[in-house]
Amino acid sequence: MAETKTGKIIKVAGPVVVAEGMVGARMYDVVRVGAENLIGEIVELHGDRASIQVYEDTSGIGPGEEVRNTGAPLSVELGPGLISSIYDGIQRPLETLVEQQGSFIQRGSDIPGLKRETRWAFEPTMDNGAEVKAGDVIGQVQESSLVLHKIMIPAGVSGKLDGLREGEFTIDEVIGTVVGADGQKTELKMLQKWPVRRPRLNQQRLNPNSVLITGQRVVDAFFPIARGGTACVPGPFGTGKTVVQHQLAKWIDADVVVYIGCGERGNEMTDVLMEFPELKDPHSGEPLMRRVVLIANTSDMPVAAREASVYTGITIAEYYRDMGYSVALMADSTSRWAEAMREISTRLEEMPAEEGYPAYLGARIASFYERAGRVVCTGSPKREGALSIIGAVSPPGGDLSDSVVQATLHVVKVFWSLQSRLAQQRHFPAIDWLTSYSFYKQYLPDTFEDKAKGREFARMVQEAMGILEQESQLAEIVRLVGAEAISAKDRMTLETARSIREDFLHQNAFHEVDTFSPVDKQYEMLRLILHFHQQGLAAIENGIETSDLFKLSVREEIARAKYLPNDDVGKITAIQDKVNEQIKGLSPVAA
Ligand code: ADP
Ligand code: MG
Repeated sequence: MAETKTGKIIKVAGPVVVAEGMVGARMYDVVRVGAENLIGEIVELHGDRASIQVYEDTSGIGPGEEVRNTGAPLSVELGPGLISSIYDGIQRPLETLVEQQGSFIQRGSDIPGLKRETRWAFEPTMDNGAEVKAGDVIGQVQESSLVLHKIMIPAGVSGKLDGLREGEFTIDEVIGTVVGADGQKTELKMLQKWPVRRPRLNQQRLNPNSVLITGQRVVDAFFPIARGGTACVPGPFGTGKTVVQHQLAKWIDADVVVYIGCGERGNEMTDVLMEFPELKDPHSGEPLMRRVVLIANTSDMPVAAREASVYTGITIAEYYRDMGYSVALMADSTSRWAEAMREISTRLEEMPAEEGYPAYLGARIASFYERAGRVVCTGSPKREGALSIIGAVSPPGGDLSDSVVQATLHVVKVFWSLQSRLAQQRHFPAIDWLTSYSFYKQYLPDTFEDKAKGREFARMVQEAMGILEQESQLAEIVRLVGAEAISAKDRMTLETARSIREDFLHQNAFHEVDTFSPVDKQYEMLRLILHFHQQGLAAIENGIETSDLFKLSVREEIARAKYLPNDDVGKITAIQDKVNEQIKGLSPVAA
């Protein structure tokens, strides 16, 4: 442990403070700045001269004031109590801060991330005398009705377990000890710390091999995300990035969700703070917050804390991954995070690269998404965890050549491209089916218990995408020569494409039923639309007029299939028979 050394401020530039005389300081040491004890972190070091990014408003701080080095890196507290918490960018509980200090946070506030008073019922799962090492699960705590918190041996500790006992403990009470080979004793507590900028360890990284169901049709069927995968949602203002992120937070098939609201306008974040505690977990009916950790940074909070918030969030997410859970992390928006990086870089007088962003922008973005993945966790029992990351990107003017978008597209495997054109037409989610992509599509068939059905679903998705591609080509022809010039079969294709877009891809996040579609329902919906297509084409062969086909009342039922109850997909299957009946009832025009 480095001893505490004190330096003196020589310059203040916005969120950056430069101090001299910082003997023995290391990069990323946390320091306390000035009489008000502001929290900062060393981000540049030349000899004993340190540049410090300060997580709090620096107004009123000036040269000559003291800077004290804590000798420790920026870390988060890990243990029971994280779930349901709402934190700022450096893990200070927002609720407690507001309660204690009114609606504005006092600077230099030292409220810890985890409550010290709460007693948790700890239940050991390992016997005393057992040989333990880092990552071994030694017990558990029911942290919320939805999350069973596994207590693990911290990194760097190994030996024989001793004195571990059942009971109600606070997080910094001793629950047992580990006696090392040299006889040295380490006290075990439920509280651990981890430096946020360092990825947590794992035994082995595995490639994602399954799809994470979200109940959002355009996502699951067309551009799925994998368990342990990465995705990005770029789009101009108002195209639905936040709604997509909220929908995923609610519905994604994950055990724990970490939601980072990053630098968006204050009222949007207030929406998150107001809305999330109201939401119900659709699978259990319990409040959603019982499996959520929220990190909130509005645009009016200090930029350095915004820079750190992403690391705070991902470290908490990795910790739950290490318990063997599937964790999903959403960050809205990573552009605001990148802007925080840019502002600090400017204050550090670093040489700017494109659009004023620092040269290391791409590397930082890559190392963030690289913390996603499916892993074999360290320690026993053997378990697999996964961390999936979904980042929103909000480039100015929606320009996809923007540095943040480009750096993100380099590393993520799923791209959901939101288009203003679609949002203006009220086609939501405004995910463009022609330019978006997913590299996880091959895992889609395994989502179904019935493998043959899974393969059939993948085939239907392929067929539907083909029809949408034909639509874009035909639309061009129609523009040039008019709708009359194309064949009846092409008219059918255009009609089916419209149906795929409006009846399948379009999904209303705010509709009670439509907000979530189980995959079985997605399957039946798509099958119905394509069934009408095939039967329609056959009828055209037999001389039926497309205008007659398009007038059939069953088309209205196809359009309304999405609103049929999720637990009775048989109702959708039954519409197929009506398609057959009604088409059979048509008679060909006399030649
Ligand atoms: P962004 O975050 O990209 O600026 P928002 O997520 O705030 O955009 O979305 C803007 C508006 O678009 C929402 O307030 C809502 O009215 C509408 N919207 C977006 N997605 C959906 C959806 N899936 N269903 C219904 N409305 C949507
Ligand atoms: Mg938004």
